[in-house]
This record gives sequence, C-alpha cells and structure tokens, in this order.
Amino acid sequence: MIVRTTAIPLASYPYSSTSRIVHWLTRTHGKISTLLKGAQRPKSPFLGEYDLFNTSELLYFEKRTNTLHTGKECALLHRRPAFNTDWRAMQTASYLTALFNKTIPEEAPCPEQFELYEELLDLAEKYGHRVQFILWAELFFSTRQGHAPHLTTCVQCGGAEPSRFCASNGGIVCTSCAKEHKFQTLECPPDILAVLRAWRNTEHPASAIKTQLTNKQLTALHSIMSAFMLYQFNMPTHLRAKALFV
Ligand SMILES: [Zn+2]
Repeated sequence: MIVRTTAIPLASYPYSSTSRIVHWLTRTHGKISTLLKGAQRPKSPFLGEYDLFNTSELLYFEKRTNTLHTGKECALLHRRPAFNTDWRAMQTASYLTALFNKTIPEEAPCPEQFELYEELLDLAEKYGHRVQFILWAELFFSTRQGHAPHLTTCVQCGGAEPSRFCASNGGIVCTSCAKEHKFQTLECPPDILAVLRAWRNTEHPASAIKTQLTNKQLTALHSIMSAFMLYQFNMPTHLRAKALFV
C-alpha cells in the first residue's frame, strides 16, 4: 500500500554506500522508518527534500511484514531556516527531537504528537536560543502528555506547604513526608515553585523567556526538570545537558 503523509525526520543514517534509513514522525502513521534507496547518490531526487527539523511530504510503500518501509518520493514542505544559523536554537531542536523520538512508540498513529512536535519546533525557531525555553517546553510537553508535574499540594499527604520536589512521585512533597518515606527529593523553595507554577500554566513561551532568573534559580530549575524528565519520560540527563550547557 502506498502512503502519503506529512513527516519530519527524527534521525537519519547511512544504510549502504548509497542508501539511507530515515526515522520519521508522520502526521497519520506515527513514528515510522523508511529506506531511501539511492538517497546518497549525487543526483538522488531525495536530495534536499528532507532534513532534520523540517517538514516534508513523504510517499512510501508500506510493508505489512516489516517495519522498514520503502520511501518512494519526498518533497520539502516547510523549512525552518533558523536552525541552520542559530546554534543554540538548533541544540534545543535536537533535544526536542530526541524527546519525541524516545517517547513515541513505533507504528502507532498519533496526529496530536505530530502537531505538538511541529508547534514546539516552530516556537524553538524563535525562542529556542533562550535557556528558559527548554524548561518551559518540558512543562508544556509534560502537560500535553497528561504528565504535568503536580505543583499544588504535597503529592503524599495533600499538605499545603511542600518545599521539596520528588521526581519519582511526579511533584512536590513536604519535608515530613520526604523524611518519613525516605523519598529522594530536591529542594524546591517558594521562588522556584512560583516559576514552575507560572510556566506550567502558560501556553506560550513569550512570557517565560522574559523571566529574570539568577544562576542559582536556573540551576535549581534545571535539577528539578532534569530529574522529572528522567523519571517520567526516561529521558537521559546527558541529552538534556548537551542541549543546555555545551
Ligand atoms: Zn506531605
């Protein structure tokens, strides 16, 4: 069966001296893999028609017995040129790509994930060079996945004044619960909690990236979100660190 869909490459690597394998997030068929035969030849019709962070129209032969489909045609639909010139924004886009690649199962249609990925890439073009953006994007991503961190009361006892963040419990806990249950927690003082709450409740990063933060506050926010992404989405901390600090 031939499938035509909108798609963004999540990863791409050589298969032979002339062909490439490309993993895509597609609008209609979820995460899929295609073999692009001859894609590395100098006159391949695939050349310039797909690239990381850019949206293409993809035509492929769907195989019933194999998860490696055969790419037939490809045409670039929407280019995101900022990632070619803005190195920091590109690092952010790489992290977002790794996040979607890691969390989306193969061959499971998920149009809402495709739309979320496109939305975050579009925003990263404009705001991805700001360090606050990734933190906001992680909260936005988590909320859309139905895994927003719990930031109102202690996740354990419902107490009103939690001052620790417990990534394995997905939210804030009070000191007595943390002690009693021997939870692994991070400090989450009122200023940090206020930032997390404000950012979690905003649908656009424009205000988040204007938030003035001290280095200490940034470090605290990164520690919390890094632990949260690891526990909730199995997102390796080194990928996150690479996008943020290198
Ligand atoms: Zn408690």
